[in-house]
Formats: sequence, C-alpha cells, structure tokens
Amino acid sequence: MNREELKIKFEDIPPEGLSLEFADEKGDLIRDCYPISHPIQARVHLQRWGIDVKVTGEVKTEIVLSCDRCLKEFPFKVTERINVLLEPRAVLSRLKEEVRLTKDDLDVIFFDGVTVEVDEVVREEILLAVPMRKLCDEACKGLCPVCGQNLNEKSCGCKPALKDSPFAILKKLVVSSG
Ligand SMILES: [Zn+2]
Ligand SMILES: [Zn+2]
Repeated sequence: MNREELKIKFEDIPPEGLSLEFADEKGDLIRDCYPISHPIQARVHLQRWGIDVKVTGEVKTEIVLSCDRCLKEFPFKVTERINVLLEPRAVLSRLKEEVRLTKDDLDVIFFDGVTVEVDEVVREEILLAVPMRKLCDEACKGLCPVCGQNLNEKSCGCKPALKDSPFAILKKLVVSSG
C-alpha cells in the first residue's frame, strides 16, 4: 500500500465517481493506535457532490485490543460500512447542518477542499468502530485487586477488603451502644 496513491485530488474525481480498492497488510494506517491481526482491506467509492465529496464503501480488518478489566489482549473484528461526507473546512452554512440532520448514518469529516485523503477516512472509520468499553468477554472477572491474579484463569483466595464497607461502621455502633 502506497499512502500517496490514496491522496486523491478533488479535480481528478470524474463525474461518474472513482472506485478504489486497497489492502494495508501491516496496519500502517492505525499503527500508532492498535496492532492488527488481519490486514486492513478497504473498498471505497468517491463521488463529487457539489463542493463536497461523498465517500462510501467498506473496511474490514481485525485489530488487537487489550481488555479493560484483565488487561489480556484479544482480537476484535472490524467490519465497517463507510458513509462519509467530506466537506471543505471553510464552508459552514446552515444548509450543511440540514444535510447532517437528515442523514443519520452519515459522518461528516472536513477536508481542505483540494485533496481527499482516503487513507485518513479509512483510518477514522476503523477507530470509530472500537468500542468504548473494551472487554475480552462481557463476563470477564478481571484481576484481583490484592494480588493481581487474573480471576478468569483461577481464583486466588484473597479476602476482599472490608474497610470501605458501610456495614463495618454500623457493626461498631451496635456493639458500643449495647
Ligand atoms: Zn478480560
Ligand atoms: Zn488475589
């Protein structure tokens, strides 16, 4: 994959649109964020729409996330439909607001009006697919706060800390009043 080939000049997009297909074997597009376990494969179609560019298509890959609870790495499949409107940064009209409001599933990204950076669009779409809560499994038990044992693998027998329990204070009061 040559990233330079994914920088498309607005004026080079023909009236019928432009279709591109590419693979990023090493995951260069998102290297600074997540490693990948499957190449990034993308298919996009660019269509001029006045001074905007509509980008549609699909991106597929598998990335490696680390679990928020147990810190273990796990593969996460990404299959995202791309439906993006690129609009020149300088334009800020009420008309555009309306476009945004009527098209729910349409992401709006700004560009300089000259060069469509397909690589950046695809990168953005992959990152948007990453969930806020990254869990290896909904039922992940996490790590023991005392000894750090991964509780999915085995239990450690540590006693849970009690000092913050409101019942500890209650018990003391009951004893002293009697
Ligand atoms: Zn986990
Ligand atoms: Zn423990």
